[in-house]
Amino acid sequence: MRLFTTVAALRCYVSLWQTKNHSLVKPSREINSHFGSIGLVPTMGALHAGHLSLIARARYENDLVIVSIFVNPLQFAPTEDYQSYPRTLDRDRDLCQQAGVDIIFAPTAEELGAGEQGRQGEKLLLTRTQVLPPETMTSVLCGKSRPGHFQGVATIVTQLFNLAQPNKAYFGQKDAQQVAIIQRLVRDLSFPIEIVTCPTVRDASGLAKSSRNQYLTLEQKEQAAVLYRSLQKAKGAFDAGERHSETLKVIVKKELAIVKAVVVEYIELVEPNTLMPLEKIEDGGLLAIACRVGETRLIDNLVLKARQPIVAIDGPAGAGKSTVARQVAAALGLVYLDTGAMYRALTWLVLQSAIPIDDYSAIAELVSKCSIQLTSSTQLDNPVRVWINGEEVTSAIRSLEVTANVSEIASQSAVRQALLQQQQQWGVKGGLVAEGRDIGTHVFPDAELKIFLTASVQERARRRQQDFYQQGQLEITVEQLAQNIAARDRADSTRELAPLQKAIDAIEICTDGLSITQVSDKIVSLYHKHQL
Ligand code: AMP
Repeated sequence: MRLFTTVAALRCYVSLWQTKNHSLVKPSREINSHFGSIGLVPTMGALHAGHLSLIARARYENDLVIVSIFVNPLQFAPTEDYQSYPRTLDRDRDLCQQAGVDIIFAPTAEELGAGEQGRQGEKLLLTRTQVLPPETMTSVLCGKSRPGHFQGVATIVTQLFNLAQPNKAYFGQKDAQQVAIIQRLVRDLSFPIEIVTCPTVRDASGLAKSSRNQYLTLEQKEQAAVLYRSLQKAKGAFDAGERHSETLKVIVKKELAIVKAVVVEYIELVEPNTLMPLEKIEDGGLLAIACRVGETRLIDNLVLKARQPIVAIDGPAGAGKSTVARQVAAALGLVYLDTGAMYRALTWLVLQSAIPIDDYSAIAELVSKCSIQLTSSTQLDNPVRVWINGEEVTSAIRSLEVTANVSEIASQSAVRQALLQQQQQWGVKGGLVAEGRDIGTHVFPDAELKIFLTASVQERARRRQQDFYQQGQLEITVEQLAQNIAARDRADSTRELAPLQKAIDAIEICTDGLSITQVSDKIVSLYHKHQL
């Protein structure tokens, strides 16, 4: 592990590392790459289990992990605890070392141009370039009592993005407003970075871990546990069908009032992405609170999801994903989202347009302007119909030519980006089963049930041979097929774009010796077991 404190050193390291690791990567494929990918975890140090969960996730998903430790003066008001904020670099360094971090970046405020001269009273000084997220997002919730806070966060996070050049950056759901603002920043400023939101880590009492919990006495910690209890109480009402903002907020308020030492700053219910206040929850709502216990300000939140569940099925080629997904959808009365058909439709479009299959930029131009419509299907014998740019291609996408080219087209970054948005659009209302190599990791990271279907190479070779057999091709041996499949697995796991990877929270099912129906039954019973 290396520790850098200067911009120059970090820049130098990242640039050398990228040259070394990207020499094999084609230029069109750098976004969302894993092979040669960099994960950034921005922190203010005083690391605890919450931070460590972000680091573990980054370690799992990237080749190079950079943790920044920077108590950012731009995000503290003069009345706040900038001076007294806990600084424990030696201990943080040990924790990072144990967690397998590659680089700690711990600059001084001056090094990032954020020293004394960066602030003036409540405001950032205009002598420093700032990043200003939409006021509708920065002036609500914590922004009301912390003017300038999110501008300070956005400014430094942007700077860290430029320095660390991450493919993915990790943030905690505990700071839900921060995550929403960073997501928006990345979208508005076109950063090629995926923002990964990690669940809130809590003490056994339910109190969200925070560096500021160090300020609390034991008694105050017990008192502070009411924050999560109050959110849970509202969730209970929500689960029982309550959707009105006022009613849910009153439930929180009453519960918090039981502990007199806890002084409420706000209780709000907002749309989780735009942070606009909600009167009633339609698809989902962010229930967020801020309180003071003594001098210490604490925040917490819960996302209340009203949408129907999503089942995401990933796994290697030949494990039976699409057949299983179709059956599971039919059994549960959910929609089967045929992502394969979407890739096929784009492939058809590229072939039609006569653009060479390796002209990545022309393909990017074409696919980012197209629109795909799919019918939803909840029945096995009711095939999905597909249109692209208004033209029906339901049978055209099953041609041999499309089949031969779909894998190459689907491996291009712009193609996956174009589909990502369309697929996520389907996820807004939920109620679907989707399958694909990165459905659980990338497309629907918040799917309620994630399954990783595997089968041994031998089993997949045997299944494939049976397919060939049925098509009248009798001469292909299981050994030949096993070799092909093993080679494809290796290529799939190490490929630079959307590599085959089990989501950290996916349940693995090995399908060896199981029929499609047995696998589907297993998934259906998991669905019920999770009370979805
Ligand atoms: P901080 O050091 O407080 O700026 O936090 C650094 C990152 O860790 C932010 O993305 C936080 O949201 C995240 N984080 C802090 N506490 C927790 C927690 N209890 N669970 C999960 N993530 C957290």
